[in-house]
Parts: sequence; C-alpha cells; structure tokens
Amino acid sequence: MEVLSNDLTEKKVFMETFGCQSNVLESNHVSSLLLKNQFSLTKQIEDADVILFNTCSIRQHAEDKVFSRLGQLADWKKEKEGRVVGVLGCMATSYKEHLMERAPHLDLVVGPDQYLKVPQVIREASQTGKSQVLADFDPVYFPENDTEHLSQPHKAFIEIMKGCDKFCTFCVVPFTRGREISRPSEDIVLETQKLAHAGVKEVMLLGQNVNSYGLGLKSKGNTITFAQLLREVARVDGIERVRFMTSHPLDLPDELIEVMATESAVCESIHLPVQCGSDRILKRMSRKYSVEHYLERVQKLRSSIKDLFITTDLIVGFPGESDEDFQGTMDLLDQVRYDAVYSFKYSPRVGTVAARMLDQVAEEAKDERLARLNEKAWKHAAEACASRLGKVEEVLVDGPADKTPGGFYGKSRQNRTVVFLGQGYQAGDVVKVKVDRHKVANLYGIVQP
Ligand code: SF4
Repeated sequence: MEVLSNDLTEKKVFMETFGCQSNVLESNHVSSLLLKNQFSLTKQIEDADVILFNTCSIRQHAEDKVFSRLGQLADWKKEKEGRVVGVLGCMATSYKEHLMERAPHLDLVVGPDQYLKVPQVIREASQTGKSQVLADFDPVYFPENDTEHLSQPHKAFIEIMKGCDKFCTFCVVPFTRGREISRPSEDIVLETQKLAHAGVKEVMLLGQNVNSYGLGLKSKGNTITFAQLLREVARVDGIERVRFMTSHPLDLPDELIEVMATESAVCESIHLPVQCGSDRILKRMSRKYSVEHYLERVQKLRSSIKDLFITTDLIVGFPGESDEDFQGTMDLLDQVRYDAVYSFKYSPRVGTVAARMLDQVAEEAKDERLARLNEKAWKHAAEACASRLGKVEEVLVDGPADKTPGGFYGKSRQNRTVVFLGQGYQAGDVVKVKVDRHKVANLYGIVQP
C-alpha cells in the first residue's frame, strides 16, 4: 500500500455538495477553513486525498446518492494509507454514528454547527486513523464568509437564522438543523459591510424561514423583525442587490412586502413554498395556512411589487392526497402562474409524522401527477419568460457562458438567467440587455449602450 505524506499542504480535498443554498454557503465556509489550515482543494475527485460529502436529508433520493457514493469509496480508501472520507451536513445530524455502521470506512461525521473542527478532525483521521462523530448543535455558531476566499467575487450568501420550529409533518429540518435560532442583526450587518468592502454587490439572506427572524432575540433585548433587517442590509453602501430565502407563507407580513416594494436594492423575486393546493392536505402537512390565505398574500405581493418573480415548492403524493386534492394543486398553478416551480414526489422521512401515516400514495400515481404538474408548470414558466421579450433587463454578470461561444451570462433582478454576446466582461459587471428571444427559462439579448 502506498503511504500518503503527512504534509498537509500536499493533501487535496474534494468536496461534493448536495441540497440547498445553506449547504452551498457552508461548503464555501468549510473550504475557506481548509485553505487557512494549509489544505488545498481540488475539483477532480481522482486527485483527492480527502473526500467530503456535504449532505441533504430532505428527500430519500438525496440520501441514497450519498450512500451509493460512500459504497464506491471503500476500495479507494484502502489503496493509500492516510486517505480520509467524511460526511458533513444534515445526514451527519440525522444518522450520527449509525453512518459508520453503514459505511465502516468513514472517518468523520460532522454536523453543521461543528465545522470549525473539520480541519483538525481530518488531520487526526489521516495521521492516526482515528474516526470521529461531531454532531451536536451549537446555538451561537453561524458560518461567516471569509472575504479572502470568496467562491464568487460579486455574490455571497449570508446565514441569518437556522433551524425551524414549524414542524411540518413531512420535514426533517427541525431534527437535522435543530430549533429556530436567529443571528444577532449587528453581526449580519457587519458581515454585509465587510462583503461590500471586498467588492460583493449581491447578497442573499438565508434561513429555513427568514420571516420568523428575530423571535429568539427578544429575550436579549433585540426586537428587530426580518423586514427591518432587510431594510438595514439593503442600505449598506456598495450592496446593489439583496435577495432572501425561504419565506413561509404563514408569517409573510405587510411590513415585509412594503420593504420589498420601497427599498431599491431588494430584488423583485420571492420563493414562497406552497407545497400543495388542497386545504385538507395543507392541514395534514401542518402548514397552518389555507389556500385562500396563500392566494391573498400572492395578490398583495403582486399588487405591491411590479414584475414580481414568484417561485414555489410543491409536493405531489403526500399521504392521503386524492385526485381532487391534486386537482386543487393544478388549479392553484393556474391561479398563480409561477415563474418557476420546484416539484417533488413525496418521500417518507424517518422520524416524521407523515412517514407514519397509513394512507401512503402509490408510486405510479405520484409519477403520473408529477408529470402532469410539471407540464403545466413549464408552460407557465415559458409564458412568463416570453413576456420579457423586448424588455431591457439589468444583468449582474456571472461570467462566460459555457454553451454560447463569445457569450456571457448573468442574472436579471428577477433572478432569470440572461445570455448575451460581448467582450471583456467580468463577474460583477452590470449591463443592460434587451431581450430578443428566450429558450425554456433562459433569456437571450443584446447589450444596450
Ligand atoms: S417550515 Fe420549512 S424547514 Fe420548517 S418544517 Fe416546514 S418545510 Fe421544514
């Protein structure tokens, strides 16, 4: 067996990230911690000495992928002494040491609140073969962007709260991420200022439910709401765009809509997960709002914010979902006409209330409903895209467009991808593009003087 050097500068880490924006943010955070601790990063798995999976437990499919990847690494690990395999993220907190039983060659299992220890745990695993499970929650720990190692020079995610107290009956987040905790607003504003100083123009404020931001801070004498925080962040010098995710429809107040409508840096887009269009199923999901309430909030948003881009999450085949319930979801799609829909087949998650419901829906019915839903959702998305033809979009450039020779791409304020031809553009440039065609959900156009 070949022996790996103990010089950490020679150790290359490959990290694969699954799941949501929080995981992307946290992978960036772990990457910068590794770089600061003399590791190097690689995008080629075949070059790696350390392989980390930052995992998601929201759906069975995402977990199955990780178990399959782990299985493939048993022989890889044996080929060279000192190689390390680790699991981070939600599977670390949901399975803990049971992951080691499923994959005995695993060296480290580290939950989201323990990432500061990742470099040390890798070092110990590589040098001594010691395996460790660190999955406790830490209420005061929030990952912060390292302005010397930003994954993109012009955009950054900022975590403003973590965990969730809503306990929707299908969701593992309250178990994998713990109870809801808000980060002090002074820390968030300070991080935004540092990012702006480093050249970042767009920030996305992240949390499982940003609308309930601040609730846990009252005991510390801080009564700031999410709307007030959003206003403060939007007014930081140098920040041109602010987005946020995710909003629960139950506690989306008028105050927030007013800030979205009046602060010029807050972009005209919102992700507002409805999950389904049947009151009976919403109740079983414990979402605590009705279809009528949801539609009233959408109406208020649309009447207050011009050209608002609305996206949602939908689950088909939740236990007990009848044809009539599903038709309610299809009717809701026709009423809202979303710009984009993230649709999923319900998959039971261990430990949740819905997984124990006896009236699970057959897979064939889920497949058939998902196909019908997607067909309608794509039609609406294409029509919404077509409505931008002839309009001039303000585009924040991300970089060269892979599939368009000589082209660049970026995001409009609504968060649509816009592709255009040009020369010499850099990530972070802002250009005006007149849209002359669209392909599925992407816009194409010509730069305006
Ligand atoms: S509000 Fe969102 S994160 Fe919280 S339990 Fe419901 S689905 Fe999960």
